[in-house]
Amino acid sequence: MSSATSDKPNANPKLFIFDNSPEGRILIGPGETGVPDAAELGRLADSMSAQGRVSRSSGCDLWAIAKTDFQPQDGYFFAQRRELPEMCEESMFRRSGAAFQMKTLYVKNKFCGECGNVMSDHEADPARVCGACGNVVYPALSSAVIVAVEKDGMLLLGHNVNFPNTRYSVLAGFVEPGETLEDAVNREVYEESEVRVKNITYFGSQPWPFPNSMMFGFRADWESGEPRPDGVELTDVRWFAPRDLPDIPPPISISRRLIDDWMSRNTR
Ligand SMILES: [Zn+2]
Repeated sequence: MSSATSDKPNANPKLFIFDNSPEGRILIGPGETGVPDAAELGRLADSMSAQGRVSRSSGCDLWAIAKTDFQPQDGYFFAQRRELPEMCEESMFRRSGAAFQMKTLYVKNKFCGECGNVMSDHEADPARVCGACGNVVYPALSSAVIVAVEKDGMLLLGHNVNFPNTRYSVLAGFVEPGETLEDAVNREVYEESEVRVKNITYFGSQPWPFPNSMMFGFRADWESGEPRPDGVELTDVRWFAPRDLPDIPPPISISRRLIDDWMSRNTR
């Protein structure tokens, strides 16, 4: 898998406007990217309750939170962030995720959790800092593993309780403190499917800002066990052949890339 495409945010800085909802719906509209240019903030500043920079570099993307009475105009509307992967190109999706996570960092760290003093943006890092006690808070990043388990040309896919009706995907889960990524792959696959794996190899990674996951993708080979769903996270898990794949995640996701990679090696 190729490394992430480089898109210097300062090439064409954008303004990512979120509403007040916890999931942070995002303002999009007409135009090539559907996202306002950063220069728009000057005109819209009075309609925003907070604003900030996504990075410390010059000409960087900006984030802002719309006041509750803000009325989008000119074809703009608030969309669910989860719909974004199917509405814009990947680089814009990734930039919007960075903006959302910096917005969240601000919202959760207006005041210091150590001493209660007002916090401000860190001068050099994407972080918040307390001028009174020196406490520095960085954006939360929750590590998760996602793994394509293969056996004799078949792929292990599960149906998660949170997926749309007929959606299946490769298995995934959060890394726990003290675990290596490989430990997490072994544990998650076994917990969710009772399958043991071997030959774990790194595939690639993807930030997944719902709300703050960092996905580490792996391939692995089946070692033992018959797939059986845990009944909690997964209601079904089984082997699929290339010719009878079910409904799978959209192309922008690393889960889909893992599936496509397996397909490319198992179809002639
Ligand atoms: Zn403090």
